[in-house]
Amino acid sequence: MKIDLNKLNIVRAHTHLMNGDFTSVELTRAYLDEIKKKNSEVNAYLEVFDDALEAAENADKMITEGKAGMMTGIPIAIKDNILIKGKIASASSKMLEDYQATYDATVISKLIKEGAVFLGRTNMDEFAMGGSTENSAYGVTKNPHDLSRVAGGSSGGSAAAVAGNMALVALGSDTGGSIRQPASYCGIVGLKPTYGRVSRYGVMAMGSSLDQIGPLANTVGDCEIIYNVLKGKDPKDGTTISEETYKIETSGARSGKKKLTIGIPRHFLGGDGIDKEVMSAFEKSIDSLKNKGYEIKEVQLPNISYSLMVYYIVMPAEVSSNMARFDGVRFGLHKDGKTGIEDYFESRRAGLGKEVIRRILLGTYVLSSGYHDAYYNRANAIRAMITEDFSKAFESVDLIATPTAPSPAFRIGEKADDPVSMYLADIFTATANLTGMPAMSIPMNGEKFEDSSGGREAGLPIGIQFTARHGDEAALFEVGKEMLGE
Ligand code: GLN
Repeated sequence: MKIDLNKLNIVRAHTHLMNGDFTSVELTRAYLDEIKKKNSEVNAYLEVFDDALEAAENADKMITEGKAGMMTGIPIAIKDNILIKGKIASASSKMLEDYQATYDATVISKLIKEGAVFLGRTNMDEFAMGGSTENSAYGVTKNPHDLSRVAGGSSGGSAAAVAGNMALVALGSDTGGSIRQPASYCGIVGLKPTYGRVSRYGVMAMGSSLDQIGPLANTVGDCEIIYNVLKGKDPKDGTTISEETYKIETSGARSGKKKLTIGIPRHFLGGDGIDKEVMSAFEKSIDSLKNKGYEIKEVQLPNISYSLMVYYIVMPAEVSSNMARFDGVRFGLHKDGKTGIEDYFESRRAGLGKEVIRRILLGTYVLSSGYHDAYYNRANAIRAMITEDFSKAFESVDLIATPTAPSPAFRIGEKADDPVSMYLADIFTATANLTGMPAMSIPMNGEKFEDSSGGREAGLPIGIQFTARHGDEAALFEVGKEMLGE
């Protein structure tokens, strides 16, 4: 059977594999062919694994032996900050150019057990710091919808791989929007699960109280399947929580309802930093959900406007401590200086990019004595208030909707020299990392966007973001499937 990659999702691929319409080797080969055709231009992958076909053969064996699950034989792309034993994991940094992982991340062990096929490791902003992959030490990833634009970031390589048919699905990490924003820019679905639902063991830490691993895919159903494989308590990550933790809260709140109620924080959506085309696509999506029977309510989130500021204090503070391990002694790149301490300076200077250094400095500053109370402690107090605002709102609604990002994918280079305007792109996404709540980006119908150069651009993709109560990923899947007609 000829494989049409455009029409595939996990369920369909699984059915074909089970029916013997094609094998995992054939499916994997189809993706490898696409990668060969497109990757030199798009730069989604830093490396394509030479053992992908071998993994596909094993998957085919599992299928013929009747041991297959949903993910068996499914080709998946992995972000370069997730460890796969024996493979390089560079986090798109010179610092770890040759670093070979010595163990599997928990999410990887789970996928291996299922018989998933790893196609390769994908490009990202260095150590996941950024929103465009322009901070990668290995070049920018281009948006498959428009090669002059970024694919978003930091999981831009994973998003471009899926959007460009170079992988069926992918894994990314999300600290302030790094799964959802590239999903929005590339017209696919991206899920950041509840903090603690997916193990962070074997994932390079950026902001440990914010990081989560999640799927990027063409459909909500695919995200759900992967989420179900990844989730669960892990003794190797003390922050993971069991299934039961939030069950009571969510089942009580949602009992007996036919359709979910969606809250919109209108007071936060009026700013001129948000493209009017984004807002008009957003309003249309909300209208169509209303027509489908969803109740739409306005909600107040009094402290949400502080989210971005709080994020850009808490995140660099955690970054500065997590990055201390890259000292040129224990891992990766080593450069000699005149003294021991200069070795350290030289190695970090040679190994780390500008944005990473900026965040280490910023984080060290907000944690330094005298400033700790003024910045870090204050930010943490406001973080608690923001979470409280959301918890209150969730007493009367099941979901909160905003656009995923204030604009569609911007042009390569447009924001590269302006870190603050790059940070502003995280305005809607960083909040869910601060509150630990699950959030998902779902493509809306493309509007025509006014380009910064004045021209009209044909329908660039843009996402709508839904946030749900802790542990209520089910609500995200429900509304997402309805929106995409799955
Ligand atoms: N764009 C955000 C940042 O630069 C998000 C990064 C992330 O989620 N890893 O911090």
